Amino acid sequence: MNAGVSQDAIKLGLIGHPAGHSLSPLIHNHWLERHGLRGRYDVFDIPPEELISGVARLAADGFSGFNVTIPHKRAVMDMCADLDESARVTGAVNTVCVGPGGALRGMNTDAAGFAQSLAEGAPGFGFEDAPALVLGAGGAARAVICGLQSLGVRGIFVAGRSAEKTKDLAAGFAAQHVAWEDRHLAAESCAVLVNATPLGMKGHADADAPLDPAVLPPGALVCDIVYRPLRTKLLEAAARRGLRIVTGDGMLLHQARLSFAAWTGTFPEIDKDLRQRVREEAQ
Ligand code: NAP
Repeated sequence: MNAGVSQDAIKLGLIGHPAGHSLSPLIHNHWLERHGLRGRYDVFDIPPEELISGVARLAADGFSGFNVTIPHKRAVMDMCADLDESARVTGAVNTVCVGPGGALRGMNTDAAGFAQSLAEGAPGFGFEDAPALVLGAGGAARAVICGLQSLGVRGIFVAGRSAEKTKDLAAGFAAQHVAWEDRHLAAESCAVLVNATPLGMKGHADADAPLDPAVLPPGALVCDIVYRPLRTKLLEAAARRGLRIVTGDGMLLHQARLSFAAWTGTFPEIDKDLRQRVREEAQ
């Protein structure tokens, strides 16, 4: 595992399986360059059976930290000597900092990144006490629920196609489970809708919107954390109805910004150039 940079350069990366095409290298390498930091961010495809040895290799190779994506976000928690509050609350780790002696500290920047993207994408929206419906019960849904709660949203409904999994998730966050078939009914009384399923994502078997936003009340806010394409069918339909929309690139950029700051001590800027490049890549 050689990132191809010299010993004292900053080594960063992403572990996942399958690693796929990630926009994270574009984002982090942009910031390394902008801040005059010598180093590189690379992607490592690590299958579950090699997680322990793969992570140990990164730590031994002098990595400052790395992002974690599907399917390792929960498994990597057991390897961390320390978990910060964000990781404990969401129950998942998307960012690991490698400390002295290779000790791992796990964090989750998805929840705060999601909340920041909503605050940025919908300035002035009254999140406090607004009922919200979250679609999906996977890792991203956990972060979305935490992010909504941090914004003061109350009365969170969660609809997922796997009933038991969705019930467990909802119970863990004091949210209310909704059967997948009843999601349109629940949406009628919600001011915020967030899609945290891969429905509508480019290349996904089901390219349809996960819900018809026509059922939402006027003035509702619709966010799709899928960012390929940037304007999903769900967002297009919501925009046609005059609803406020927030695209998924904001969450991607804000969670990355928090991870970069944790590794390097530098809070990078989400400049126009970077946002534009991410949006072009997402098309
Ligand atoms: P995950 O852990 O695999 O969870 C996916 C969820 O969607 C599960 O609840 C799954 O249900 C459900 N689902 C999948 N296919 C479905 C279908 N055909 N109909 C109904 N429900 C379906 O994935 P994740 O990590 O939560 O990610 C979900 C999406 O969010 C992905 O598209 C990912 O790219 C996106 N994401 C974006 C960001 C960002 O920064 N913008 C960050 C993280 C994730 P089952 O449990 O029944 O399979």
